[in-house]
Amino acid sequence: QAKDAGRNNFKYFTSGMNQAMFARMELEQRLRRAVAQDEFTLHYQPIVDMKTGKVCSLEALIRWQDPDLGLIPPDHFIRIAEETGLIEPMGEWVLNQAMHDLRQWQHMGLKLNIAINVSSRQCVNARGMGFDQVLQECFNRHHINPRNVHIEITESMLMGDASHCLSTLESIRHLGSQIYIDDFGTGYSSLSYLKKFPISVIKIDRSFVENALDNSSNANLVKAIVMMGQSLEMELVAEGIETEAQWNLLRDLGCHYAQGYLISKPLPFEDVTPLLSQNLPTVLQLEQREKCVN
Ligand code: C2E
Ligand code: MG
Ligand code: MG
Ligand code: MG
Repeated sequence: QAKDAGRNNFKYFTSGMNQAMFARMELEQRLRRAVAQDEFTLHYQPIVDMKTGKVCSLEALIRWQDPDLGLIPPDHFIRIAEETGLIEPMGEWVLNQAMHDLRQWQHMGLKLNIAINVSSRQCVNARGMGFDQVLQECFNRHHINPRNVHIEITESMLMGDASHCLSTLESIRHLGSQIYIDDFGTGYSSLSYLKKFPISVIKIDRSFVENALDNSSNANLVKAIVMMGQSLEMELVAEGIETEAQWNLLRDLGCHYAQGYLISKPLPFEDVTPLLSQNLPTVLQLEQREKCVN
């Protein structure tokens, strides 16, 4: 009898929804272990000045190396981390590792800024500390000037517990770190909303860059975002630049900074370091070569 019941249970758990639930539970458990056992690493993706081609900053992007599942990209676990609260210790790990790495680059005589992704769940932590305090602590620990650190948030963060977030963001800005709005254009923030928050830089979402060359209405959409940024006196970063045509278009529209596979994929510390002392990225070299030919 018991055996049958067991078999039935098994059948029950393997059917559709429950299988998904099971998979999710397993991932959650693995993630807990990953946080406890330090299974994360950071990759860094350069952001370059479109005028000079210089790398001005690096965006820190988390990677999870699971012993059985291999390298897991953040899109597969950030949501679960947020829902379970694991994003808190994970976020602090990211911050500490990035500040440690920044300090190393500074010791090599390299000047650059680091951009950190922060999700809304990190605004207040379980210890009742605001994220601004967590940052301050970390800056002190690693002897980092807050000006060298940029905080990337998404539009959804502005629309959640807005009043609380506003004060946290204002404190962060007050420390000296700039606030970037990531994936801009994918959320629903209105202009008046944007103006309320101490945002310095807008990162134009990759989807707009990707479609900009398809037709003129998509190009106009990007143009409108750039113009909006300019009128709000915010700087602009184009995300996901993969082709020279995209680079040229965005630069001509007046975008200041670019990030994307054309310049470099996110890379581990050792691999990104040689790129930092190069003044010209491949893109600009290509363009100069073109000019020589013409
Ligand atoms: P994001 O902050 O918008 O980061 C940009 C994502 O686009 C990265 O994916 C990057 O690898 C990818 N990307 C960059 N250039 C190109 C390109 O030219 N073409 C294409 N197709 N993709 C490009 P990644 O590293 O998988 O990260 C995904 C998202 O996960 C990030 O989006 C960010 O929202 C989140 N994330 C990553 N690290 C952290 C973290 O430490 N904390 C938090 N809270 N979120 C993180
Ligand atoms: Mg980002
Ligand atoms: Mg983005
Ligand atoms: Mg994104």
